[in-house]
Amino acid sequence: MSRALTRRERFIRQGAAATWQFRPTAGLLILESPGLRQLEWLVHGFSTRAAGASKWKGARALPLGFSGWDRRKQVRENRAKFFRTIGGARMRVVRLRQIHSGISYRVDRLNALALAKEPPRGDALFTREAGILLAVETADCVPILLVDTKRRAIAAIHSGWRGTLERIAAKTLGRMQMEFGTRPEDVIAALGPGIGRCCYQVGSDVAREFNAQFPAARDWFDGAFDALASGRSDPHWLPWLTMRPPGHRPPSPTVNLDLLAANRAVLADAGVPACQISASGFCTACRSDLFFSYRREHTTGRMLAAIGITES
Ligand SMILES: [Zn+2]
Repeated sequence: MSRALTRRERFIRQGAAATWQFRPTAGLLILESPGLRQLEWLVHGFSTRAAGASKWKGARALPLGFSGWDRRKQVRENRAKFFRTIGGARMRVVRLRQIHSGISYRVDRLNALALAKEPPRGDALFTREAGILLAVETADCVPILLVDTKRRAIAAIHSGWRGTLERIAAKTLGRMQMEFGTRPEDVIAALGPGIGRCCYQVGSDVAREFNAQFPAARDWFDGAFDALASGRSDPHWLPWLTMRPPGHRPPSPTVNLDLLAANRAVLADAGVPACQISASGFCTACRSDLFFSYRREHTTGRMLAAIGITES
């Protein structure tokens, strides 16, 4: 029989199981993870496209990334407003030049200023220092925030399909274990809005790479996964696969990837209890009224996921 949970553990798990909420504040619509919101020593938020100082197709919008379509001046204004709204106005913001890698950086008092001035190339940031706001940009990739509730350490991670293949969430957690003594069972993980299984069509190269890396990969794909992952999608096989008579060109088989399920599995394999991993439940491509989606729009803005430890 498993042991009874402590009060603290019950508190953590209840938060992780609760529904995510939008917080309309100062004209912006910020998405919050209930598991993180209950920790009073933290600020965090996942931005949406709503409101902001920019104009996009006639509506006010909140693009927050310098790699998006909007002008830098406007983006700076939007970012300041977002940081203010989540309670991080006085924090030092550290961001990344994101490259779809497995690379993470530790941020501390000594290097924060240098990293803020010259964002490092990588896809995850982690810290135990108060007064530092870690931020990652997304528009379909999955933003992941990790919190070690016991040792008070945090991480912000950008995980697209390449980052997921690199197991960037587990690698970042591994560095927190090494450098802070973080135990996975003390960690809450919040997976923000990303492109869903419903909309994320990928090619046979992606299916093959996942199949080679993860024994459970098939569970995260819909469509002709077996054919594509095994490389049997060459023209000689296609008529067999699609049961078409000769002479009729079959459509090429496609496959959809569930990035959220893959990242959940990566974190669970690294020891984070499944009940402490929660996801927003939103697909960025389905809900382009609320979020920016690169897949859906191509020319679009970027959202931010940010987290920081408050000075006590
Ligand atoms: Zn969708």
